[in-house]
Amino acid sequence: MIIQLEKNITEAQSEKLHQRLEAIGYSTNDVKTQFADYLIGVGKKDFDIRAIGTLEGIRDIHRVSDAYKLVSKKWKVNDSQIDLGDGVKIGAGDFQMMAGPCSIETEEQIVATVEHLVKNGVKIMRGGVYKPRSSPYSFRGLGIDGLKLWHQHASAAGIKIITEVMMSEQIDEMIDYVDIFQIGARNSQNFNLLDAIGKVDKPVLLKRGISGTMDELLQAAEYIFSNGNEKIMLCERGIRTYENGYRNTMDINAMAMLKEKTHLPVIADPSHGIGVRKFVDKVALASMMVGVDGVIFEVHATPEKAYSDGQQTLSFTEAEKLYEQLRKTEKFRSEI
Ligand code: PEP
Ligand code: MN
Repeated sequence: MIIQLEKNITEAQSEKLHQRLEAIGYSTNDVKTQFADYLIGVGKKDFDIRAIGTLEGIRDIHRVSDAYKLVSKKWKVNDSQIDLGDGVKIGAGDFQMMAGPCSIETEEQIVATVEHLVKNGVKIMRGGVYKPRSSPYSFRGLGIDGLKLWHQHASAAGIKIITEVMMSEQIDEMIDYVDIFQIGARNSQNFNLLDAIGKVDKPVLLKRGISGTMDELLQAAEYIFSNGNEKIMLCERGIRTYENGYRNTMDINAMAMLKEKTHLPVIADPSHGIGVRKFVDKVALASMMVGVDGVIFEVHATPEKAYSDGQQTLSFTEAEKLYEQLRKTEKFRSEI
């Protein structure tokens, strides 16, 4: 059960509400976010909702018995929107593209990519400075110095930054230099990191775990929301299946269904989703047609020389074609 509280609820009213819920066998959880105060009741007992609904200090009350609640569309039927400032919005009718290299490598690469994005009207640049790599001998990113350098160039050009945070200890040093924190597939169920990112007021893109179910993804998002941060986007980036003809299996079904299950924006990552450069555009366009709110993909001036994920990275020329196709598809899907 989700109880939305009045902003000015008094201590006494709140106390009474907790007592009433506990008396009918519900455990209570207080949630305070950037936008509202909630009381989450967890329990199985069926009861007459009027036993609570008539108490003071309540704005609204919703029965949501799923494991995930605050991120569910069952109580919030209107889609949520992430506002990055400067007119850059994601969700609830606003579509965004996010492009950039897998890893931030050099100043020269940053400058070239920023220029490429500005030229093409793309507002958000992706790139990793802390890289989760399967092998410890692979390039693991430039770290905080790389992020600061990147921020210098990106902010001067009006470009927003999305980058992965791997540990809660990194949040404080990164927060002034990022616009969206990315939680990677490998950390999708790192509950301590989810708790920590839920305590800051900064948008988060949460990726689906490599073998994660939709339900696990939604519950991971619930961790962030219930810690106080409502600014969450979910990202489908492909899952591991028995098929080994490509890197991952982009789950088109999940993107369609997530749009039904949650009010949070849903983003497609076709680069990791298929892992094969030649097909990234096709998977991106297919994702558009199931209704995603944004697409994030890897772009590099010279993909064959990229420090990581070159095999799934588009060249600037290929990316330019895809930006156009995505824009056309967005228009097309709104007309059919
Ligand atoms: C990335 O975006 O470069 C990345 C490492 O993604 P994922 O966590 O989906 O593998
Ligand atoms: Mn990558």
